[in-house]
Amino acid sequence: MLLKPVMDPPPQPVRYLCGECGAETPLKPGDVVECCECPSRILYKKRTHRIVQYEAR
Ligand SMILES: [Zn+2]
Repeated sequence: MLLKPVMDPPPQPVRYLCGECGAETPLKPGDVVECCECPSRILYKKRTHRIVQYEAR
């Protein structure tokens, strides 16, 4: 019987919006603040709205 130690979940990346191209770039703490689509480093933190999807029946 194998029991794995329970590990803490990794920190959730924060999603930023590029000020140049508007691409969404997830960044983890410690990551370089840089757009993943273009060389821009102007990233805006998205409002953390909780996106809830309801299953339509
Ligand atoms: Zn960009």
